[in-house]
Amino acid sequence: MAHGVTLIPGDGIGPEVIEAARRAIDATGVGIEWDRRDMGAGAFSRRGTPLPAETLASIRARGVALKGPVETPVTSGYRSVNLELRKHLKLFACVRPCKRYPGVPVVYDHVDLVVVRENLEDMYTGYEFEMGMEATKELITFIQGATGHRIREDSGLSIKSITEDGSERIARFAFELARAQGRRSVTAGHKANIMKFSDGLFLEVARRVAGDFPEIPFDDRIIDALCMQLVQAPERFDVLVLPNFYGDVVSELGAALIGGLGVAPGGHFGAGGLAIFEATHGTAPRLAGTNQANPVGVILSGAMLLRHIGEEEAGDRLEAAVAQVLAEGVHVAGDLRAAGDDRPPAGTFQVAEAVIERL
Ligand code: ATP
Repeated sequence: MAHGVTLIPGDGIGPEVIEAARRAIDATGVGIEWDRRDMGAGAFSRRGTPLPAETLASIRARGVALKGPVETPVTSGYRSVNLELRKHLKLFACVRPCKRYPGVPVVYDHVDLVVVRENLEDMYTGYEFEMGMEATKELITFIQGATGHRIREDSGLSIKSITEDGSERIARFAFELARAQGRRSVTAGHKANIMKFSDGLFLEVARRVAGDFPEIPFDDRIIDALCMQLVQAPERFDVLVLPNFYGDVVSELGAALIGGLGVAPGGHFGAGGLAIFEATHGTAPRLAGTNQANPVGVILSGAMLLRHIGEEEAGDRLEAAVAQVLAEGVHVAGDLRAAGDDRPPAGTFQVAEAVIERL
């Protein structure tokens, strides 16, 4: 029986890279019935909303989606349509594997990290207070009364909120992933020395959860030290678990370690196996419609999707075909051409065809 999967082409380079990935996934021979749905700026201009109810219903019904990047139109009333999607579907975990494949021009020989980012809390809860507004003044007065600290009136405030429940859920997710994938260790990133009651809570809960996984070594790093050590010696780390904001930054840092946004895959996970797979990159508007975008990030996200729906062998085969194309170094997109390498870059669809030929 075919697997039902929602397909969201999205905006910018989304339609090209998603089409390339869809072809590659289909070429594995796994039967997938794609349900193509709208989201983002294109959806907003066609249907008046960037997040149509039918799209959400399709993902809920199928439980899994492959998604391109989407743009949030300024006039849509949404701060971020991606955040809205994650909130609606309670996709609490973002997983970004950062694996270096031979042939990719980077300074590191060995990088094989998994960044597990909490997806719903922290600085992204949207408790924003604009400078000069009445509510902001009231909050300033309250904080001054409660803490004795004076806050200047020309302050804008963003509230960071981290819960015990949310920390427990993401820490457990990271350890279970580490166990399922036979990983070496889990490291938590935080700034608990400064933010004792938010990051401190996150760390305390992560330590507690670590006690339930005695076979997996656990340690932690202050986020600034973690970033430095990741650049110095990424091979020292394995699974990283981070609150939302640091997870956002470290995901892109991780992408840089393995060759950039063009090759970095990812997935968002919720309760009951609900999952949306998408590359780390955004809409890259300057590359849209030019057949220059690298589809590898989305194709590797497709390999994650295949494994998630129980098609491990096909997922492994797809990843191996991508690895072969990268190792050969002939059919690779322009973002993977090292300085001085004058060979012509391959287009989005040529890369996908090369992957398909090696399946
Ligand atoms: P957004 O606001 O949607 O995040 P953006 O252009 O600010 O879009 P990205 O889309 O993530 O951010 O891309 C930043 C840059 O990285 C792009 O301008 C492009 O040069 C490069 N890039 C991103 N994705 C790819 C890709 N798939 N292939 C090649 N280059 C890419």
